[in-house]
Amino acid sequence: MTTGTAQQVRVRIAPSPTGYFHVGGARTALYNWCVARRNGGVFILRIEDTDRERHQEEQYEGILEALRWLDLGWDEGPYRQSERRALYHAALDTLWDSGRIYACDCTREMVEARTKGNTTPGYDGFCRDRGLERRPGRALRFRVPDGGITVVHDVIRGAVEFANATIEDFVVAKSNGDALFVLAVVADDRDMSISHVIRAEEHLPTTPKAVLIWEALNAADPAVARPLPVFAHLPILVNERRQKISKRRDRVAIEDYRAQGFLPEAMANYLALLGWSFADGRELFSRQELVDTFRLEDVNHSPAFFDEKKLLHFNGVYIRALPSEAFTDRCRRWARDTGSAPPSLFDGPEWFALAPLVQERVAVLAEAPGYVAFLSAESFSIDADSWSRAVEGDAEAPAILAEARERFDGLEAFRAVELKSELEAIAEAHGRRLGKAQAPVRVATLGRTVGLPLFESLEVLGRDKALERIDRALERIGQALAPSDGHSV
Ligand code: GLU
Repeated sequence: MTTGTAQQVRVRIAPSPTGYFHVGGARTALYNWCVARRNGGVFILRIEDTDRERHQEEQYEGILEALRWLDLGWDEGPYRQSERRALYHAALDTLWDSGRIYACDCTREMVEARTKGNTTPGYDGFCRDRGLERRPGRALRFRVPDGGITVVHDVIRGAVEFANATIEDFVVAKSNGDALFVLAVVADDRDMSISHVIRAEEHLPTTPKAVLIWEALNAADPAVARPLPVFAHLPILVNERRQKISKRRDRVAIEDYRAQGFLPEAMANYLALLGWSFADGRELFSRQELVDTFRLEDVNHSPAFFDEKKLLHFNGVYIRALPSEAFTDRCRRWARDTGSAPPSLFDGPEWFALAPLVQERVAVLAEAPGYVAFLSAESFSIDADSWSRAVEGDAEAPAILAEARERFDGLEAFRAVELKSELEAIAEAHGRRLGKAQAPVRVATLGRTVGLPLFESLEVLGRDKALERIDRALERIGQALAPSDGHSV
């Protein structure tokens, strides 16, 4: 990797606890983690929670939880910006003492009134040479050089140049004394000896400001000068309409994917491909293969399509690759973690008999309970749509059900093979395909037209329950027919 120095690789992620941990944040975390792991470096977690009121403790925990779930353990931290204000004030003092920042008492209205119609947007430098003292109630602004350019060296994008004339004298501390984000990030990155700043593309426009502050701090105190970090701005994530993915339009919270029963390793595998790929086009790989191969230089700068369908497909592949016991274990863990189903659903001989069939069919763990809901009286119900199509909508359904009841009852062994041949005989008698004869039986006993293979399911359900359910279905049909029959005589 081209660090340009023999500096130790130290990377960080700096998520803000704003309610949910975004898939983009997870991709950033994964890339940072890979860079650290591949280079024997240090992966640091820093929470940007300067705005404490808006940022709830729960959301802070949510970030940690999401990172743990994705197996992206950090080596240092979590540091919290809210606990590091002294560091930011020291940086402000240095900048003040060296004349790189100045006090400003302009209100927003004053600035707007003065700059309305200006060709260059932003602050007009009104207080630059007024020599105002630094005191509460006054903001602090950075004195941006009038000419020249500021270059951001970005591993992914090359040298990105910004003309200083286009950068306003930006605020580094608010009038209440709080340091602004751009200043805090620089102070932290310096203090933590960050070698690579790997973050989302949306931060690129503020990066020249960070570079200016960084260089000003180096110049002010050469004894503690620090090399600028290498920057890498990761491509934005877009949906199928090429819009930047957002909470309003798209599913972006890691928590939501977890709740749906995505496997963290499938999620991480998919996230790795959002801006990067193996040279041989391989799409499914282990974490180790990723660490061994990932290079920041190979990250693409064009927007990456966050394709939920592809993620779903990956998840199905990962689920099917699990050893059988591991699948059960994941189902239970998912049920326990999300509270979406009783973990006991994934236990007992009936579950174990059906688990391999479930595993073949689900794309997310949240689909698993639906496949086995028929097993217990509490969770069994008949889907209304399936009933109206396969039972009410089929004139021969009552006869098929009655015949199935009789033949199933007469079986010596209530096993899939025998059940199948009985229903085949019924199908033949009715001149229809087996699948068509299965439909009413399936809805009566399993509750819906789609699901696990009928005969294996019936075998597991057992004779008593199966026959009882067929009886109930026949009764229900009888009741539906009864009133009109009654009135017609
Ligand atoms: N706090 C920023 C975010 O959540 C990250 C800033 C940075 O990485 O420098 O997107």
